[in-house]
Amino acid sequence: MTPPFRFEVEKPLNQYSTFGIGGPARFFIEIAKIEQMQAVISYCYQQKLPYIVIGKGSNCLFDDRGFDGLVILNKISFCQFEWPVVSVGAGYSFSLLGAQTARKGWSGLEFASGIPGTVGGAVYMNAGASGAETQEALMEVSYVNEKGVLEVLPKNLIAFSYRHSSFQGLKGAIVAAKFLLLPSEEARKKQLSIIEYRTRTQPYSDKSAGCIFRNPSPLSAGALIQQAGLKGTKIGGAEVSTVHANFIVNKGKAKAKDVLELSEHVKKVVKEKTGQDLEMEVRCIPYQV
Ligand SMILES: Cc1cc2nc3c(=O)[nH]c(=O)nc-3n(C[C@H](O)[C@H](O)[C@H](O)COP(=O)(O)OP(=O)(O)OC[C@H]3O[C@@H](n4cnc5c(N)ncnc54)[C@H](O)[C@@H]3O)c2cc1C
Repeated sequence: MTPPFRFEVEKPLNQYSTFGIGGPARFFIEIAKIEQMQAVISYCYQQKLPYIVIGKGSNCLFDDRGFDGLVILNKISFCQFEWPVVSVGAGYSFSLLGAQTARKGWSGLEFASGIPGTVGGAVYMNAGASGAETQEALMEVSYVNEKGVLEVLPKNLIAFSYRHSSFQGLKGAIVAAKFLLLPSEEARKKQLSIIEYRTRTQPYSDKSAGCIFRNPSPLSAGALIQQAGLKGTKIGGAEVSTVHANFIVNKGKAKAKDVLELSEHVKKVVKEKTGQDLEMEVRCIPYQV
């Protein structure tokens, strides 16, 4: 079957990851419309072509060999405000959405400001910060299932927990979401204080994929890593950030291998010194799925 779209080949993935790491995708396509996403996913289903959907790659570590399949870059980025509801394409910037809604005096997504992913990535990961998480203001999600069929899922049909959504166990693409917000005179002030705190405490000038480990509730992974004396530890081009211990940063030419080796080292030392187990939060995308 000839695909009704053109795939790019051998596309370097380092430019689609905030880590700046990753080999080439065998095939690559950028999608801007929901119908296009349906057509591509339906094609992959019929042809048994492995694929992965990505947003801004701000929570992904691609393999040094790249990805042996199709990488679908989600750029579905409409945004419609019908207060108190906002309907947004899954490729829309989550950070921008947080700032825009707060600026207009609507509360519920202030925490999104400064999270450098897409709305789709935020729903998939149930991204959160400052005591809030994505699922809280969420009403429904539009999802293209593994056969390419568009479904509208109300929030009560989706399971969410800490940095987890039931989409992580499915094959398909989040293409849009609706959020229900509340009017608040404090929203803008709150959003500005969140962004000020983030820029002061996180290594924004370095390449990373955010927190590398999940917080082992009720503890903080960053505090455990710092307590274990690991800030500044390096393997190859990867370094445990000196600004925030739960960030591994790419100091130049880091490979995925360096990040993985450093993560393993951190896990081992933290276990020895504090007795705590750490678990990766960053999604390691294997060469083959
Ligand atoms: C400096 C920095 C700060 C960060 N701070 C935070 C923070 O405070 N809180 C937090 O929770 N995270 C944080 N992150 C991590 C990251 O930004 C979030 O997890 C974000 O939600 C990921 O969105 P993305 O579009 O970049 O997803 P990607 O990294 O592109 O993808 C992440 C996962 O989601 C899947 N996915 C993405 N889009 C779709 C889609 N449309 N349909 C189906 N699957 C999809 C991918 O396959 C992948 O498995 C930070 C990252 C950085 C670099």
